[in-house]
Order: sequence, then C-alpha cells, then structure tokens
Amino acid sequence: MGRFNAQVVNWTLMHDCYGDVERVPALLGRVEFDDNAEAWEELGYRLVLEDDLVFPAGFAALPRLVRLAPRSARARGLAGTILRRAAGHHGCDDLLADRADAIAEFRELLDRHLRSRPAGYLASFLDLLAAKGEYHWSAVLGDFTDDFYHLACPHCAVEVTIAIGEHGCYSAIRDWHLGDVDRRGLRPASAEELSGTGRWMYETAVRDGQESLADGIAHLFGKAECPHCASVFTIADEYASANRPVLR
Ligand SMILES: [Zn+2]
Repeated sequence: MGRFNAQVVNWTLMHDCYGDVERVPALLGRVEFDDNAEAWEELGYRLVLEDDLVFPAGFAALPRLVRLAPRSARARGLAGTILRRAAGHHGCDDLLADRADAIAEFRELLDRHLRSRPAGYLASFLDLLAAKGEYHWSAVLGDFTDDFYHLACPHCAVEVTIAIGEHGCYSAIRDWHLGDVDRRGLRPASAEELSGTGRWMYETAVRDGQESLADGIAHLFGKAECPHCASVFTIADEYASANRPVLR
C-alpha cells in the first residue's frame, strides 16, 4: 500500500499483465489518435485478464479511458471491465482511490448512456453498479430470464433455491432427482418498500423502461418463505451476506 500516490501517472510503476510499463501509454496514445481496433484489442488483454484480474496499468489508464468514453463504446466497455474487477485482490487500493474523480465522471456518463436505453442495457447497468462500488450486485446480477440464487435459510440453515425468471419466481428445496420441490411463491417488494441499492437499481430500471429487469429486482429485494421452516426473509440480505466479495 502507499506505492501509487502520485496524482500524475508515473507509468514506470504501472505494469500491465506482461510486466511492461511502456506499451500501455503508447497504446492509449494510439486509440486517442484514431480509435484503432488492433490497439484497442491489445489494450484489453494487457489491462485485464480473463480470470478476474486487473493490473496497475488498468487503474492508471482509467482517466484517459473515461475521457474517450463519450465517443467510444470500446473505451466505455474497457473502463467498465476494469471497475468490475476492482473488487478483486489487486493491491491497488491507493491507486483506485486516486481515480475517484474519473470514476465519478464515468458514473455520470454511464447514467446518461442508460437513459438512452441502449442495446446491451444490462452490461452498462452492471458497469455502473461497479462504478458505484456495488461490486457484489455488479458481479451476480443476471438478466432474470432464468436466474437461480442459492442461500441458507437464516433460521434453519437449510439450503434454499431461489428462482427468478420466466419459469417462475419461487423459493424451493432443490432435489437432484425431483428438481425444485416444495415451491413457495416469492413476495416482491413494492417500490415503497425498497431502500438503498435495491431502490436505486429498481428506480433506474423503471426510469429506463427495463420492465423485466425492474420486476426481477423487485423479487430479488423482496421476501421468500423457507420451504422447510416457513420463516420469511429478505432474499437480497441473505444472499449478499453469504456471497459478499472479500474487499481488501
Ligand atoms: Zn428455514
């Protein structure tokens, strides 16, 4: 910690996933100049790896990516990917903190983008959740066509399967031979019952005409009944507490 305090990027410290320190600034200069597809591709694999890793050069590059983002979908996508990975073990907390202004600007930009109801709405929605520091929901939220969440009943600890999708919204006990048995319908939260992140997510989806996303969120932040002991609990609370990423 404390290694990357400089407000002006010292690229000699900002290695990418190959340990290089010179290639990323050169590539950024290239895409700023002419939006070159090959340069974007190389930037992508130098800044983020498939297995959820991000490198110091990725955070260092954020301000320049955010500046390009209003006119470049590639810049927007790469900045979003970097922020989604920010919950992982990257050892760059100070560097990330130094990027607060760029991240705030990115949040505003993504919000404007979502208002335009783009194709691929969910991906930008998840990027915005990450930019707000909501890494958990950014990582686990699906499109609610056929989503399952597994959690332990807070009262009897039995494993409960929560289904939210086109095939139904229910809590159940998953039986490997019989499927989801002893189903109970979920009780979605009303708009007034929602608070915090759940409310923000719901209101944003409603604002942007994303009806199935809003409906899924209302169920996810609503209540379920345990098929085993019949106690009622809030799905999102139990799921988040059991699956919260370890932040360092
Ligand atoms: Zn129970």
